[in-house]
Amino acid sequence: MGLLPTDRMDSLFSPRCVWVNGPIIVGAGPSGLAVAACLREQGVPYVILERADCIASLWQKRTYDRLKLHLPKQFCELPRMPFPDHYPEYPTRRQFIDYLEDYAAKFEIKPEFSSTVLSARYDETSGLWRVVTSAPNNGGEMEYIGRWLVVATGENAETVVPDIPGLDGFDGKVTHVSDYKSGEAYAGKRVLVVGCGNSGMEVSLDLSDHGARPAMVVRDAVHVLPREVLGKSTFELAVLLMRSLPLWIVDKIMVLLAWLVLGNLAKLGLRRPAAGPLELKEKYGRTPVLDYGALARIRAGDIAVVPAVTRFGKGGQVELADGRTLNFDAVILATGYHSNVPQWLQGNDFFNKDGYPKTAFPHGWKGQSGLYAVGFTRRGLSGASADAVRIAKDLGNVWREEAKPTKRAGACHRRCISVVF
Ligand SMILES: Cc1cc2nc3c(=O)[nH]c(=O)nc-3n(C[C@H](O)[C@H](O)[C@H](O)COP(=O)(O)OP(=O)(O)OC[C@H]3O[C@@H](n4cnc5c(N)ncnc54)[C@H](O)[C@@H]3O)c2cc1C
Repeated sequence: MGLLPTDRMDSLFSPRCVWVNGPIIVGAGPSGLAVAACLREQGVPYVILERADCIASLWQKRTYDRLKLHLPKQFCELPRMPFPDHYPEYPTRRQFIDYLEDYAAKFEIKPEFSSTVLSARYDETSGLWRVVTSAPNNGGEMEYIGRWLVVATGENAETVVPDIPGLDGFDGKVTHVSDYKSGEAYAGKRVLVVGCGNSGMEVSLDLSDHGARPAMVVRDAVHVLPREVLGKSTFELAVLLMRSLPLWIVDKIMVLLAWLVLGNLAKLGLRRPAAGPLELKEKYGRTPVLDYGALARIRAGDIAVVPAVTRFGKGGQVELADGRTLNFDAVILATGYHSNVPQWLQGNDFFNKDGYPKTAFPHGWKGQSGLYAVGFTRRGLSGASADAVRIAKDLGNVWREEAKPTKRAGACHRRCISVVF
């Protein structure tokens, strides 16, 4: 085979290139969908890149069967489309996915699926964002070029796996909660659930429902609150109180209510932190745990509470911080998630090393050079919706002023195969 001329070879190995006459949105979860819907209203074209083969992949592929929205539905709606009237106060996972599918259909959102963003960088010379993705079906790489970049990859993009000695060599099955569906497969088994956040508590309850013998690792102090007080959502109550009272007073009220409704949880091995639940959420993004029935099972002895794991040994042995060694058949890691922005967003100082905007809510949605961030507020879906509305409004204004369909296309030195409007 003869050699190809250099420029032919260059174009063969270069990514295929797409000029986007509008924002490039990375991630088709609720945040990305909300931005896309609001942009449509503004008449702004966009492209939305998603690594999975479906919208809302976290909800479709990485959540357990019994999951319901943790917060009442009015706090979880995306902009411009309420939940159907017949939905219960806490929609199920399936109902939430159906709602998101309907949302995408209503606003004609058609993401580019199986497109993992590998890198994104701002080219100072051209004033453009260059976003490289893996192309679907192992088709090499694609490069999307445009004036604006919207980061919507979420706070839960990658799983956190704790670094505990011996975990790799544990004899039983080790699963991250993102791969857990139901306790059915664990009936009769001794299961160690590492982590006591909302997922750890609920998975422990689910395991117990399915006849397994769960033990939940509680390493640090934790705020557990009742999901409802006198028939009203605790979250809603906190939101109402915050309108007229300072945070520290609302915190005191929350802790008092929790004590009245749930009793002294320290006796169960669940110590409360010195700082209040809202203060911890505000300062460190630590979400209080809402009780869905796990506490009653702990009291009944169906769910054990154990301290931190110091080492996983052979034959299913687990050494605990209190000196005990217990045996387990399986381990479920309810140890959370982290943002993946630092892995692919290059040369920016808008995000910190943990992949969150450095500027706190409500100002963390807009960076320099056409960079936007949605869904990094640690305020769930309501925070994402607030970001999305602001971003679309801002983009609507700048797009109408700045975008001229062919003005910057010449800056793309590679082989542009299409223009997205
Ligand atoms: C179990 C669970 C329950 C929750 N319940 C509630 C609740 O009841 N109420 C509430 O308000 N909040 C809740 N949250 C928090 C939050 O609202 C949800 O996590 C929500 O899905 C966040 O939406 P998002 O679009 O920002 O992120 P995600 O839903 O995580 O979507 C991000 C998308 O980006 C894609 N992506 C990531 N990296 C790349 C890449 N490099 N290239 C291309 N695509 C990429 C992902 O595949 C994903 O589809 C819950 C979270 C969890 C984990």
